[in-house]
Amino acid sequence: MNRDINVTKLKLNCYRQSKVPGEFMLQLRVPGAVIPVEYLDIASEIARKWGDGNFHIGTRMTLDFPGIKYDDIPAVNKYLARYIKGIEEDECDVDMDKVAGEPHDWDEDEGYPTIGARNISACIGNVHCICGNINTQDLAKKIEKIIFPSHYHIKVNIAGCPNDCVKAHMCDFGIIGTAKIDFHPERCIGCGACVRQCKHASTRVLSPGPNGTPIKDDCCCVGCGECVRVCPTGAWTRNPQKFYKVIIGGRTGRQTPRAGKMFLNWASEDVVLGVLGNWQKFSAWALDYKPVYLHGGHLIDRAGYQKFKEIILDGVKLNPECMVAEQIFWQETEYRSNFNVKLPADHQKAGPGSQG
Ligand code: SF4
Ligand code: SF4
Ligand code: SF4
Repeated sequence: MNRDINVTKLKLNCYRQSKVPGEFMLQLRVPGAVIPVEYLDIASEIARKWGDGNFHIGTRMTLDFPGIKYDDIPAVNKYLARYIKGIEEDECDVDMDKVAGEPHDWDEDEGYPTIGARNISACIGNVHCICGNINTQDLAKKIEKIIFPSHYHIKVNIAGCPNDCVKAHMCDFGIIGTAKIDFHPERCIGCGACVRQCKHASTRVLSPGPNGTPIKDDCCCVGCGECVRVCPTGAWTRNPQKFYKVIIGGRTGRQTPRAGKMFLNWASEDVVLGVLGNWQKFSAWALDYKPVYLHGGHLIDRAGYQKFKEIILDGVKLNPECMVAEQIFWQETEYRSNFNVKLPADHQKAGPGSQG
């Protein structure tokens, strides 16, 4: 085995070290979890020629290729250029000659220039799903252009509706498509389907009014669109203007995992993209301009929510409907804080290996 392998450098190029010495796993970005099918030919060739014949769907919706030998990495990178150019430059309009906004003369043989901003996860959204409020795939492409390539870490998950199948609450920056729902009373036949569905599957803000016509408590409608989906006469419709919730500070991991909380509600797409455009500025400030790996939630803890808000909203013009959380508190700040319990004496005697 070559003992001079620079694992850190290879990780930057999106190769993950294997438990098998001298082998690595390449992770291909798939922004928004969709790629034109012709790119699968490139992927399958990598698996067949240099990998172990399989690809694994990564937890962040990457295409992963285990079993790549260290000595083959230059050849894989050279072959990979067609995929990177196709996906990043052609599909997402990414400028590969910049890293973190600084000029970077991308050499096609170098593979990915950085792994900092992770692949954007997304559910299929309204391209297919009957519940979808937004086109998650188009939004992912716009965001890829803003966040990649950068050494600063960020995980973005995009859900097409508040059902949040993609777990926007468990990443640095979750985006959830929501809809303002218009009511057309002249079409309502008072069947009560929307009231039942909102009660069963959503926030219970509908109640039956005179002749069964629904009455909505506007305070707490989450814009999921379930009422639209079940109405037989089209009395509820989604307003064509798209809105988003932005959830921040969620994270998994060994240290204080936690669900994110809502930062923006009813934000326009311009606001979401503007805020993401400031993410790197915020990360750089919070990390003293050294892009080390830390979840966004840790950076927000470090900076404090008010400072985060000041930097992340800098220059962003909020749409009139947009609501910004005044304050956000998380409980999960101290490791083991919930387990400060003294064990009974006989338990303590059991020593290491006890399941107590
Ligand atoms: S989050 Fe909503 S739009 Fe996306 S797959 Fe789930 S139900 Fe469909
Ligand atoms: S959009 Fe609002 S009213 Fe309609 S089902 Fe969802 S929460 Fe209920
Ligand atoms: S589902 Fe449609 S028709 Fe039935 S009560 Fe609701 S709005 Fe009226």
